[in-house]
Amino acid sequence: MKTEITIGQTFIDSLVLKANDGTLAPDEACMAKYWITDLLNKVCYECLQLHGGAGYMMEYPIARATLDARITTIFAGTNEIMKQVIGRSMGL
Ligand SMILES: Cc1cc2nc3c(=O)[nH]c(=O)nc-3n(C[C@H](O)[C@H](O)[C@H](O)COP(=O)(O)OP(=O)(O)OC[C@H]3O[C@@H](n4cnc5c(N)ncnc54)[C@H](O)[C@@H]3O)c2cc1C
Repeated sequence: MKTEITIGQTFIDSLVLKANDGTLAPDEACMAKYWITDLLNKVCYECLQLHGGAGYMMEYPIARATLDARITTIFAGTNEIMKQVIGRSMGL
């Protein structure tokens, strides 16, 4: 998880630099949106498993984080739509 989070952070940092100098392409933003939100859900899922039954109980922050993570692949454009934009940028 640490490896993937570090890779994701590195990718986001590179896109922030591009956004700041006005060179961020729409397909790159879509790649970040879908890949990072998928990763967020994967990491929350694994962390919930790590906590066992307590991870499922809403009293604990990991349960809330997992619930909140789920919407990120849906709002602000679903991840399927992000992939469509990426595909179009490849001429598909
Ligand atoms: C908490 C929350 C906050 C929100 N905030 C805002 C906001 O501030 N501003 C705003 O404008 N909207 C907001 N929304 C709306 C959000 O952007 C939409 O829910 C989102 O765009 C998905 O649209 P939909 O729910 O109509 O799903 P649908 O478009 O009906 O999609 C349903 C499913 O079908 C898939 N799908 C649809 N079309 C295709 C396709 N062509 N190819 C493959 N798969 C496809 C989708 O990926 C999804 O999995 C919010 C939603 C929620 C739940």
